[in-house]
Amino acid sequence: MKEAKASKLTQSVHVGSFGDPLFGGVVTPIYPSAAYDYETEVRYPRYYNTPNQKAVVEKLAALENGETGLVFSSGMAAIMTSIFAMVRSGDHILFQNDLYGGTHHAALHELERYGIEHSMVDVSDLKTFEKGIRKNTKVIYVETPSNPLLKITDLAGVSKIARKHGIVTIIDNTFASPVNQNPIDFGIDIVTHSGTKYIGGHSDICCGAMVSSKKLTEQIKQSALHFGGSLDAQSCYLVERSLKTIVLRVRQQNLNALAIAKFLESESAVTKVYYPGLKNHPGHSIAKKQMPGGFGGMLSFEIKGDPHKFIKKLKYIKRAISLGGVESTITSPVLTSHAKLTAAERKLVGISDKLVRFSVGIEETVDLINDIKQAL
Ligand SMILES: *Cc1c(COP(=O)(O)O)cnc(C)c1O
Repeated sequence: MKEAKASKLTQSVHVGSFGDPLFGGVVTPIYPSAAYDYETEVRYPRYYNTPNQKAVVEKLAALENGETGLVFSSGMAAIMTSIFAMVRSGDHILFQNDLYGGTHHAALHELERYGIEHSMVDVSDLKTFEKGIRKNTKVIYVETPSNPLLKITDLAGVSKIARKHGIVTIIDNTFASPVNQNPIDFGIDIVTHSGTKYIGGHSDICCGAMVSSKKLTEQIKQSALHFGGSLDAQSCYLVERSLKTIVLRVRQQNLNALAIAKFLESESAVTKVYYPGLKNHPGHSIAKKQMPGGFGGMLSFEIKGDPHKFIKKLKYIKRAISLGGVESTITSPVLTSHAKLTAAERKLVGISDKLVRFSVGIEETVDLINDIKQAL
């Protein structure tokens, strides 16, 4: 009989963490060596095969229902290495049109220089999206929920189209975290993360990761060792430690975000709330299907008043870029994540000057709601 697969909570604590073989300590030791005996395996940090890198990858691959993966020194290293490993000059990449600002900017200003074509198409209508496929399309790249409007992309729908045309799919799964959404279950080939967010979870590590099949991971690894964005042992140890609480953290963030989204909906000073857990969100039914763990800790809303004054009045909720930490943070996308887009580009994806993006932390729900109440 096949052994029952452990639940995510148990996996997050145990998978990949191998303990101390010398003294019997319960946690994975930190192995900082950059030089190893080569008799059995040629180990080297930039070959992505040191003990601490492997511990992180095993845990993450288990949580993502993938075979294996690689851990990187940033989310962008994971994303760009995964993309570059799949294409060559003359190929085309089809992106969904609302993307993390850094990825959007990289597509415009990096890929072009290498002769890699791209286009960005609204993915809310799959038929229109499919029409964006060209003869030379080699990669479809999606992000769901998207930043900052929490739009939902139908993963099963996208992967079905991609398979029909023999195209590799890559997702940025940062916003959902591996706790809430496992794109591989819906046919997506390569999952990428900015580990700086929910995986690190404490706003103190910059890292990234990709998870996929052994075959595609090997292909990405061949590029990764040229680009060199590997993660050091100390950081790997912190990531592994963080992953042990990711399920607990994200569960509380899911719970808080849903309660806050419902509260904001009932507030007259709030004109719009974007949260996939709300029944009136256009992606709600798809989100319910593909995010079995919960709707995530990210939400956005527009207010009647001045968003900068509102943000300044908050006590617990800190004005800060980045997201996914245990502490609640809030930003104005116009000034931060999407500052590099022109006003016209922002308008095209629906980002208003009145928009605030909220990364909900693990604090007590009522304290966060009271904080928002007094600031509004
Ligand atoms: C932060 C972020 C990235 C980039 O990750 P870094 O770790 O900053 O390189 C990519 N995608 C999303 C959705 C992000 O939030």
